[in-house]
Amino acid sequence: MTALRPLVLTIVLLVSATAATLAAERSVDKRAIDFAVNNGLAAMYHEIGHLFIDQYELPVLGARTEDAADTIATLLLLAEETPQADAVLRDTVDGWLLDNPRLDRGGFERWEFYGRYLLDIQRAYGIVCLMVGKDFDKYRDVARTVSMDTERAHECATDYDLAERSLRKVLIGHEKVGARAGPGVVVTYDEAGGSLRDVAEYVRASTLLEAAAKRIEDGFMLDRVVKFRALSCDEANAFYVEDLNEIQFCYEYAAYFYDLKAKALQSAAEPGDKGDSKN
Ligand SMILES: [Zn+2]
Repeated sequence: MTALRPLVLTIVLLVSATAATLAAERSVDKRAIDFAVNNGLAAMYHEIGHLFIDQYELPVLGARTEDAADTIATLLLLAEETPQADAVLRDTVDGWLLDNPRLDRGGFERWEFYGRYLLDIQRAYGIVCLMVGKDFDKYRDVARTVSMDTERAHECATDYDLAERSLRKVLIGHEKVGARAGPGVVVTYDEAGGSLRDVAEYVRASTLLEAAAKRIEDGFMLDRVVKFRALSCDEANAFYVEDLNEIQFCYEYAAYFYDLKAKALQSAAEPGDKGDSKN
């Protein structure tokens, strides 16, 4: 699996000066910062999935391109086989599960079933399935934590094998061989104002975009230069913008994940007040 060979992922966590700055706006918890950075990186990998599907014209036989992008992101992370990549995978599962207040209350709306995306909880289980499918012993604790049935967890080996074989086949010819030079990734961080200024600082200091760019540049040959850009965009999201050859990561997304984890940690510390957190 040369295309998916493990690569060292450099995630430089935050310098204390940045954390101190952030403290002015939010009560800083390093676990929440790590969580935001890890989920941000997973979002970048998901967008890289869209990038691959577009640039390499990969076949997508399932009904949902979004599901395919999740699968590509998860397989790329699993292939790295590093503690950092493991932490990203585990935090991403939590990220999809933490913001699920309706899970216990029911009340899903019809559009959620015909939309482009699987339900958040299904996206979480999709990642867990590939994790235990690759290495049951290593990730059985994750399956247990999210109450995945053991029989299903064992079945996931078949799901993983098929997904991994499929991706490996369609990436043949696109992997980097030796020191071949090709179009690279241009990383930029826009300035942000107001309450996002500190968030922008910690996203930049985390070198999140550089880590995602290194994954591509070390492993794959792009057809054309791609830009990875962090910016303020009025919503908590990330995008692959086909016309611009650009992956955009919104500072609001990092703030969202930070607040999500901080709230969960706070709820866990206050056993009498669990709030909406379900994890
Ligand atoms: Zn997507």
